[in-house]
Amino acid sequence: MNIILFGPPGAGKGTQADNIVKSFDLFKFSTGDLLRKAIRNNTDLGRKIKSLMEEGSLVPDSIIDNLITKILSDKKYYNRLIFDGYPRNLDQAKNLDKLLNNYNQKISCVLNLEVNKDLLLKRILGRLICTKCGSIFNKYFKPQTNINHLCGNNSLIKRSDDNEKTLINRYATYLDKTLPILNYYKKLNLLHEINGEKEIDQIFEEIEAIIASLEA
Ligand SMILES: [Zn+2]
Repeated sequence: MNIILFGPPGAGKGTQADNIVKSFDLFKFSTGDLLRKAIRNNTDLGRKIKSLMEEGSLVPDSIIDNLITKILSDKKYYNRLIFDGYPRNLDQAKNLDKLLNNYNQKISCVLNLEVNKDLLLKRILGRLICTKCGSIFNKYFKPQTNINHLCGNNSLIKRSDDNEKTLINRYATYLDKTLPILNYYKKLNLLHEINGEKEIDQIFEEIEAIIASLEA
């Protein structure tokens, strides 16, 4: 069972990935994790990645391939992978198929969490954090009241990096890059669209059902 998980920022992809890892005993990989691990290990490759990232350059696909190959060739991870935030473009997706094939594996399913843009904006822009007790509220979905929160309104703040323009750009970039990849997997009959607007538990039930149907 090798799974790819897609979803825009704020869709709860990380939470669902963690749930899948726990329930199905898989290993999660994101390119970010792989790059950070390589840097930590301080190998030649790690040092090269570090200098690329420090100068703000994109890490080339060849390096990503190299890191992915290491995972695929490791027996511990055989057919137990969940990719989060990878592949990032169509070339990487096609190449991943080749690499998997080299190690006698394939992608079992691709799960795409769909969440409408307005809802994502409300989820992120509505978020309020209490500086006193650390509680998290949402202006739209979970407003603070004098019953659920005793510190009062004055200690609630918004995260400064959550502004609407940045979020809209991030969402547009995500769709731009991800749609061609989703179409690719759709043609291969691997794509499962999941309504990411439901409750976390409901979403996970849907995911479990899909994975169970593949294992049957
Ligand atoms: Zn508080």
